[in-house]
Amino acid sequence: MTISEFQPPHRLLLGPGPSPVEDRVLRAMSAPVLGHLDPVFLSCMTDVQHLLRYVFETQNRVTFPVSGTGSAGMEAALANLLEPDEEVIIGIHGFFGERMYEMATRLGARPIRVEAEWGRPLDDREIRAALDRSRARIVCVVHAETSTGVRQPLEPIASLVAEREGILIVDAVTSLGGQPVGVDRLGIGVCYSGSQKALSCPPGLAPITFSEVALEKVHRRKTAVPSWYFDVSLIERYWGNERSYHHTAPISLNYALREALRIVAEEGLEARWQRHEQNARALWAGLEAMGLRLFVPREYRLWTLTTICVPEGVDDARVRARLLEEFHIEIGGGLGPLRGKIWRVGVMGAGSTRRNVLLLLSALESVLRREGFRCGSGVSAAVEAYVA
Ligand SMILES: *Cc1c(COP(=O)(O)O)cnc(C)c1O
Repeated sequence: MTISEFQPPHRLLLGPGPSPVEDRVLRAMSAPVLGHLDPVFLSCMTDVQHLLRYVFETQNRVTFPVSGTGSAGMEAALANLLEPDEEVIIGIHGFFGERMYEMATRLGARPIRVEAEWGRPLDDREIRAALDRSRARIVCVVHAETSTGVRQPLEPIASLVAEREGILIVDAVTSLGGQPVGVDRLGIGVCYSGSQKALSCPPGLAPITFSEVALEKVHRRKTAVPSWYFDVSLIERYWGNERSYHHTAPISLNYALREALRIVAEEGLEARWQRHEQNARALWAGLEAMGLRLFVPREYRLWTLTTICVPEGVDDARVRARLLEEFHIEIGGGLGPLRGKIWRVGVMGAGSTRRNVLLLLSALESVLRREGFRCGSGVSAAVEAYVA
């Protein structure tokens, strides 16, 4: 049997992830595969941990990449911290909050929903009320709700949880490396992310960090962590000082993450956040000048991911298909109840550039005009936003 070599095209990834991967990172992945206990690979692990502490803004000893995608990070956080029948507050304002709720349920915990309309952040007063009327001491929130484009303000929730000596679990999959998270500054108990969003590494690793307080709770559990693979006490022996076998680390992906994080550190976190903010603001200016409506009020918009309401009379799927076929640009559609209603444009990591913003705006203009949508010039408004 012969099957031809797989030759994927070059696409411009401006969807909700994966984001564009720099050549440096791809080259790092093609280096020779080492054994997972080879001293040279161990030094790669040490570098990855060191760099992850930098991007999480933490001194947490237990900081490492979970072998798996962002959802594996979510599962690792919840499986370690939640015990059967334990009440836990889950903030739900989109698809990924729902996923946390689903996982908490499967783990046998008793999740309490605190909800906000999709497209709006949670109201911290409702979290306070839920804390007051339950025994829950763990609060889970999604910082960057990739299904809606909402940035959840973390400070008020973090102080509520701190007042009660609780533990805050934060999903920073689409924010880490693109906008401030600040694990130690906020006193976050467990924070996880994904390699393929604002960090611009291929998918397959989920950076995670546990505070000492969170680890104490894990060590005091009455029941074993229900997942052997994600049990942090076991994984700690591999990623901690012992360096003893737990599972085979995805060697090449760790090379890639090391290189992607090196790029983050070379640029510097602050400069990287600024770049994301500037490109997001120019994109918003362009889209609004075209006559498009953005789904999220300005103060709660993510810099990494922008959501656009699909205009009346415009075919959502046809627009995305044309962008892909004619311009090789990928953007995302809506999830769940937002299917067909919004587009999701990720301008994150290596993809957050002036060139990509202008290219997307001009491609979108061309496609929307053919849909009969009368649009103004997004490109010139974005250019003006850059020089302003
Ligand atoms: C993408 C994403 C996830 C899931 O990550 P996968 O890599 O797809 O498993 C979880 N939470 C948020 C907020 C995300 O954007």
